[in-house]
Amino acid sequence: MPGYWATGGFGMKWTLPPRIEICEVGPRDGLQNEVTLLTVAQKVELIDRVVEHGAHRVEIGSFVNPRAVPAMADTDEVARHIRRPVGVEYRALVANLKGLERSLGVEIRNAKLTASASVSHSLRNLGRTPSDVMGDFATCADFARTEGMQVTGAISTAFGCPYEGQVPLSAVRDLVEQFLSMGIQEISLSDTIGTAHPGLVHEYCVALKDEYPRVLWTLHFHNTRGLALANVLAGLQAGVIRYDAAFAGLGGCPFAPGATGNLATEDLINMAHSMGIATGYDLEGMLRLGLRVQELVGHTTDSAMLRVAAAGGK
Ligand code: ZN
Repeated sequence: MPGYWATGGFGMKWTLPPRIEICEVGPRDGLQNEVTLLTVAQKVELIDRVVEHGAHRVEIGSFVNPRAVPAMADTDEVARHIRRPVGVEYRALVANLKGLERSLGVEIRNAKLTASASVSHSLRNLGRTPSDVMGDFATCADFARTEGMQVTGAISTAFGCPYEGQVPLSAVRDLVEQFLSMGIQEISLSDTIGTAHPGLVHEYCVALKDEYPRVLWTLHFHNTRGLALANVLAGLQAGVIRYDAAFAGLGGCPFAPGATGNLATEDLINMAHSMGIATGYDLEGMLRLGLRVQELVGHTTDSAMLRVAAAGGK
């Protein structure tokens, strides 16, 4: 992208974008793992406030089996009550056609379909192999196209799996090819269990961007081993400008032992702004919101900026 990249300062030869896009996934990837279930009104408050503070893309919840994920059972109600300012994209995670229909029913026209790059993770998580899961997604993608919905493909355990260790790039590529064959051009790579490191992220992103230049890539990091921000920097160096993050650093995966904590939105904003990269977010507002999130879930969370804010610092 000639002319697009700016060179950063500080004596380093950074290749940095002038701006990144953050998708707020706290209402879904964060709240789905909390013991304390928030009310619809509380979820709506958080979603409206994150938009007020600059979010243009929010994952509001999921339309999956309520028995499997009780914390997301009320996503339909949440969707009915959120404000819908023009220019903000609200999306939800769906697992099948039924989920897509629910999503469409409450005018959430952006859906995320997730498959795992690891067979073992997929079997334990969904009881099905990745190819079975992808088979159903083709029907979903057709339905979405007919209804004018946008679909994002997400690849979980794209870097590491709790049962198989490092996931080979070929496994990721297989899913990318299948998403592309369904007409899905926006693909997210998730470090579901937080084992990715900057070297691996850079290697995979450079290879995939080179091979599939038309794909819009998003990176989704968990801070389980403290490497989320370092991984973002590696992603930026590879030319990826879209990142998922969760307010207060909430989140994890109930099927991935120890996988607690998404990259905290306020930590990502702080790093970006410090380096001269715009996000469109108001950091002060997000810090107040992060503290409110902690109050609602009833515990402190893995967010460096909220620790600073709680101690009265800036
Ligand atoms: Zn996640």
